[in-house]
Amino acid sequence: MLNVKLIAHTPDPERVVAAAARLCYSAVGVDALLEKSTPESDAKFVRMLAGLGHASPIEHASFTFGIEGVSRALLAQITRHRLASFSVQSQRYVRLNDFKFVVPPEVESDPASKEAFLKAMEEEGRHYLNIAAALQAKHKAAFLAEGLSEKEAERKAEKMANEDARFVLPNACETKMVMTMNARSLQNFFRLRCCNRAQWEIRALAEEMYKLVYPVAPALFETAGPPCVAGPCPEGKMCCGKTKEVREHYAQLKAQLSK
Ligand SMILES: Cc1cc2nc3c(=O)[nH]c(=O)nc-3n(C[C@H](O)[C@H](O)[C@H](O)COP(=O)(O)OP(=O)(O)OC[C@H]3O[C@@H](n4cnc5c(N)ncnc54)[C@H](O)[C@@H]3O)c2cc1C
Repeated sequence: MLNVKLIAHTPDPERVVAAAARLCYSAVGVDALLEKSTPESDAKFVRMLAGLGHASPIEHASFTFGIEGVSRALLAQITRHRLASFSVQSQRYVRLNDFKFVVPPEVESDPASKEAFLKAMEEEGRHYLNIAAALQAKHKAAFLAEGLSEKEAERKAEKMANEDARFVLPNACETKMVMTMNARSLQNFFRLRCCNRAQWEIRALAEEMYKLVYPVAPALFETAGPPCVAGPCPEGKMCCGKTKEVREHYAQLKAQLSK
């Protein structure tokens, strides 16, 4: 099950962003700028920046998330966001003895598809463990023949076996990661992945991340979300046709998160 936590973020993100931006336009130094800063003036300045399109100061605020219960299919998509930093659970170091997987809601709601899906997962899990065990035994024998100790031969053989056995694991296989994005990159992420055109799993993750960062820095993320929240839909023929509903949804979310 999807589990997202905001592990850490730049302290006082709007203060940091406002200070960085004010510096660009001011003759005075950092100390004087920080003395003048108040949460209200910082928020006002951050909102003004968004209007100017002056985006580089918002790169100074970073947000780190712990993400669990997502599929390797999602991993392939999220790691396309090149400006983020990732640490992902290794399938080389970790043997998935009882591998967990994500069931797409459409599969979950269709009994025949669900039955076939669960059978496939069970079979793939079994093949994975059989291949891992066979390879591990082969590698261990070779390492022992080379003169390695029992413990060292076992450790190296297990890692080598995992490395190749994982090729049979499916896209549905669960993974976990720690990911850091700065606020500019996050705004881009929300624009692309909160949109109804994004695939359901990454869209669900993006919305959970939005819910975590908006209360921390409401001015910074005031116009965040899919592009239609703050302007016209840029998707042309691919528009979902639900601009009104999407705007209402984000207005409600913001109202709830501001309480
Ligand atoms: C609905 C949807 C469908 C998609 N379908 C596909 C698909 O079918 N196949 C596929 O391969 N991908 C697909 N993608 C992934 C998409 O093409 C992007 O790779 C992904 O969304 C990351 O976006 P990004 O490049 O803006 O993010 P980041 O990599 O975080 O980059 C952020 C921004 O930095 C700038 N930037 C970063 N690197 C460069 C660079 N090398 N040169 C110039 N500017 C740069 C750009 O302005 C970019 O927007 C899809 C994405 C979405 C949302």
